Amino acid sequence: MPNVYLDYAATTPLDAAVLEVMLPYLKEHYGNPSSVHALGRKARVAVEESRARVAACLGAEPSEIIFTSGGTEADNLALRGALEAAPAGRAALVTSAAEHEAVPQPAEAMAEAGRSVTVLKPPATGAVTPAQVAAAIDEETALVSLMHANNEIGTLTAIPDIADVCHARGVLLHCDAVQAAGLLALDVKAMDVDLLSLSAHKFYGPKGAGALYVRGGVEVAPLVRGGAQERRRRGGTENVAAVVGLAEALDRAVQEAEARATCLKALRGRLVASLRSALDGTLVFNTPLGDAPVAPHVVNVSFPPHDGRRLDGEMLLLNLDVEGVHASAGSACTSGALEPSHVIQALGRDRATAAATVRFSLGKYTTEADVDYAAEALDKIVRRMRS
Ligand code: PLP
Repeated sequence: MPNVYLDYAATTPLDAAVLEVMLPYLKEHYGNPSSVHALGRKARVAVEESRARVAACLGAEPSEIIFTSGGTEADNLALRGALEAAPAGRAALVTSAAEHEAVPQPAEAMAEAGRSVTVLKPPATGAVTPAQVAAAIDEETALVSLMHANNEIGTLTAIPDIADVCHARGVLLHCDAVQAAGLLALDVKAMDVDLLSLSAHKFYGPKGAGALYVRGGVEVAPLVRGGAQERRRRGGTENVAAVVGLAEALDRAVQEAEARATCLKALRGRLVASLRSALDGTLVFNTPLGDAPVAPHVVNVSFPPHDGRRLDGEMLLLNLDVEGVHASAGSACTSGALEPSHVIQALGRDRATAAATVRFSLGKYTTEADVDYAAEALDKIVRRMRS
C-alpha cells in the first residue's frame, strides 16, 4: 500500500539535519538562558545566534524578532499586542474572511470586548485587494492583518501594494506568512510589513516554535507576562532547542526556496491536469487556476452536490486515507469539526460544496508517482461514493 503524504500545509516532517542541531540543547546544553553561569550562557548564545539567523533570513534586525510557541501565538501577539499598544481612539482592526483561525478568533474576542473589527469578503480568488483595504481603512484603523499565502487554497495576497495603502494612512500591516516561508521570498523590507508571523513546523522545523517579526519602533504589548525574556514582549523561559531548530530550518528553507518552488509548481501542474482529466465536470477548483498568483504547494477542490446528492467530505478523506493518501479538508485546526471551511464559504461556495472539500498540499518529498496515485485514488473513490 503506498503511503502518500499530501498534507504539507498542515505540517512537514522534521528535517534530520534540523534534529541534529537541536539534540545538544535537549541533552547536555540544558542551561536556562537567563542563568549567569556557563551552562546558562551557552543557552543564551544559542538563542541569540538563532535570533540573528532568523533576522538575516528575513532582512530584519535581531532585535525585531520575538520567538513564540508557533504561528498561532505569533498571530495572537501581533493582533492583541499591536492593538493593545495602540492609542485609544485609533485601535480598530481590518482583516479578511479568508484568514487562518489564528486571526479571526482573537479578532472576534476583541470585537466582543468592544473593539471595532472589519472583516473584508475576498473575491473568488480568495485574496482581498488593495482597493478593498483602502476603502475599509478609516481614522480609527490601527492595524490591517492579511495572510501572504492562503493555507487552504494557496492564493497570494498583494502584500507590498497593501502595505503602500496602509502606510499612506498611518496604519500598521501584519502579515501571516506561515505558509509562504520556504517557498516564497520573505524580505520584510521588500514586503514593507510591520509585523510578520512564522511557524517552524511548516518548513521542516519543530512543532511548537514560531516567530513574530516586529518592525523596530512598533509597540506590541505582551500576551504572556512573567519575565524579562524577549525584551519583555514574551515572558517565560525560552524553548532553546526549538528556537535553534527554527533558525536552522528557516536558513535551509530560504536557501532552498526557489528550487523547491519550481519543483512544486511542476508537480502541482501535473496534479491539476490529472484531476481535470479524471474528474472534470464533477469538481470545482478552489485554488485559482488563472492568472491570480498562488503558492506552489496547494491544490484545493470541492465536489458540488450531484443530482441533488451531497458528497460527505469527511468520508472522502477517510476513504483517501484507506487508500494511503493523507490529505485534509483545509485547515487542520478545523478538520474534524462539522462546520465546513469558513475560507471556502467566503469564496462563495454553498455549505454542501464547502463540506466536500479536499486540500492536497505538496512538499519536498512529493514525487510525480505520488500525485498520479492521489488523482487516481480520488477519482476511484468519488465514483464509488457517487454510485
Ligand atoms: N497561520 C497559517 C496561515 C497557518 O497555516 C497555520 C497553521 O496551519 C497557522 C497560522 C498556525 O500555526 P501553528 O500551527 O504553528 O500554530
